[in-house]
Amino acid sequence: MRLRKGDLVEVITGEERGRRGKIMKIERDKKTGRNRVLVEGLNLAKKHQRTRSAEKPGGIIDLPNPIDVSNLVLLCPKCGRKTKVKREVHDGRRVRICRECNEIIDA
Ligand SMILES: [Zn+2]
Repeated sequence: MRLRKGDLVEVITGEERGRRGKIMKIERDKKTGRNRVLVEGLNLAKKHQRTRSAEKPGGIIDLPNPIDVSNLVLLCPKCGRKTKVKREVHDGRRVRICRECNEIIDA
């Protein structure tokens, strides 16, 4: 898996192509075994929510639907370009490296 929670990604296919957001959650689809990604503010679906408590009133809320990982591309936090990562071991730690600028992405 080349993406992680907190990564900034861009959508590369579909209606929201070109839109960007931060990964909130990554989950594995149990049926297909593919990784699906929840991105902040993207692929929103209206959902009717029942009132659960006074603090959480019901109503219609926008919830992101998961996006298949193959529809997303990582934006490098160092150079800002769309990139793929390669993995290397640095000081005994596996890190991700941007193929565009060769900087280590993981802090
Ligand atoms: Zn880069």
